[in-house]
Amino acid sequence: MPAAFVRLAPLARSYGGLRQPMALDKQRLLLTVGTNTTGVGFKQFGTISALPVVISKQSATSRASSQQAAAATSFGLSRSIRTTSGVLDGASLPKTVKMSGNAKLLHENLWQADPELMDLVRKEKKRQIQGLEMIASENFTSLSVLQCLSSCLHNKYSEGLPGQRYYGGNEYIDEIELLAQKRALEAYRLNPEEWGCNVQPYSGSPANFAVYTGLIEPHGRIMGLDLPDGGHLTHGFMTATKKISATSIFFESMPYKVDPVTGLIDYDKLEESARIFKPKIIIAGISCYSRCLDYKRFRQIADANGAYMFADMAHISGLVAAGVIPSPFEFADVVSTTTHKSLRGPRAGVIFYRKGVRSVKANGEKVLYDLESKINQAVFPGLQGGPHNHAIAGIATCMLQAQTPEFKDYQVQIIKNARALCDGLLQKGYTISTGGTDVHLVLVDLRPVGITGARAEYVLEEISIACNKNTVPGDKSALNPSGIRLGTPALTTRGLTESDMARVVDFIDRGLQLSKEITAVSGPKLADFKRVLHEDPKLNGKVQALKKEVQDYSEKFPMPGYEEF
Ligand SMILES: *Cc1c(COP(=O)(O)O)cnc(C)c1O
Repeated sequence: MPAAFVRLAPLARSYGGLRQPMALDKQRLLLTVGTNTTGVGFKQFGTISALPVVISKQSATSRASSQQAAAATSFGLSRSIRTTSGVLDGASLPKTVKMSGNAKLLHENLWQADPELMDLVRKEKKRQIQGLEMIASENFTSLSVLQCLSSCLHNKYSEGLPGQRYYGGNEYIDEIELLAQKRALEAYRLNPEEWGCNVQPYSGSPANFAVYTGLIEPHGRIMGLDLPDGGHLTHGFMTATKKISATSIFFESMPYKVDPVTGLIDYDKLEESARIFKPKIIIAGISCYSRCLDYKRFRQIADANGAYMFADMAHISGLVAAGVIPSPFEFADVVSTTTHKSLRGPRAGVIFYRKGVRSVKANGEKVLYDLESKINQAVFPGLQGGPHNHAIAGIATCMLQAQTPEFKDYQVQIIKNARALCDGLLQKGYTISTGGTDVHLVLVDLRPVGITGARAEYVLEEISIACNKNTVPGDKSALNPSGIRLGTPALTTRGLTESDMARVVDFIDRGLQLSKEITAVSGPKLADFKRVLHEDPKLNGKVQALKKEVQDYSEKFPMPGYEEF
């Protein structure tokens, strides 16, 4: 073993974040020490923490000229940046020594080029680390997905599908998209003879719009769970006075509802309304509903009306991939998903469609599905232009992760945590809509404790717990909801387990109790509530003390991604 490595190691270890790359990249480090700073080995090293060490070593042994060493160190290798691990800094070093003009625009790190923005990004990172993230749709994606998102794939235009592009240079992009499609099917255990998928939708909302656009005419009829009952905007949301979602402007929507007492979807009423409304698409999907859906019943109702059954599994697609809740694929014609919620991938969308034989006529003639071209053409050229290839790569790698035993363990833990959260809140006397949960979220009905959803959300945010106010079944006003939605995917990513949920419940309970104390002083207006929370020294002191406790607690759990941003 060359002496250089031995002498380098203790020194190098004193830089944060280097231990792991050292172990993994021993071989590469050895190579690096032997190369010129402009050489491939140097560029490939890829961990900024090591650069000062390598550079000083190289100049000490005359492998790099003093000019090269100075050029390298001038690229912002300040003390604060040295501790940032995982930054592929060496790759942006140009061969020229001088950094000026356009070269500066192109090659400077974000923290040099735009410190004002970088400062905000760092603050956001800190907020994520110090808070308890309980917004049910959020998650912390993996380092490998983040690396896809900031890769060169971002640069490429590739309108069309693999093998049929409108631009050249897509040989690898084609392979990446095909890989993403293949793995997406594998993640849901789908037979490629029976299912295909489109991985190009920019996110969940455009994916859903593409499904409607592809399958039905303008003003075609759709039925989805009403937004205040736990559905999504894109399932056709409108109010008495305004068509809110474009899906209610360009298509005719009629909602179905949950039973205001049990909080469960009223399938009988859905069946009745569908018979009258005769929708072309019935949507089975939720953003705030803590129970599994009865896909078989949806299928029956769709069949009775000659409608497509469309499952939007955006929230639960991680749970479905892991096989820990029933899958919609057995019954649906089309399935859409976001990939950034429980699935923990990039911010993007996927549409799955049936293909192959749809039915066989009495004379033995096969009737085939015709969804593939309808869906594909609705996505492009119907609604979108160039695919986001960096996001598609992120889908590919997240769908690979989704097939691992570790991912299954993660999803099992999400549900265990949601149940522990639910049980803890019930024990403290809170009311849970539907009485429990089968999935990753709980909907807390705060009417019995006399706290509004807005007040609860606000006070929890003040103590660094993120969640959202939500209507609960039977709520009189959608503008003043009476509940909060709490989810466990993000906390579970950070390694919290059932025993930690007891602590989380304690924080939430103390926050909500504080909100009562504040209301006692402020009276019913939200503006007064906020003012008292901030200005009453005693109450604000209590809020600040609890916030510190939450932050000290949250900070201890690991966070995937880059260290500082
Ligand atoms: C989040 C969500 C969407 C939309 O996803 P975006 O990526 O936010 O556009 C669609 N449907 C359901 C059920 C969702 O929960």
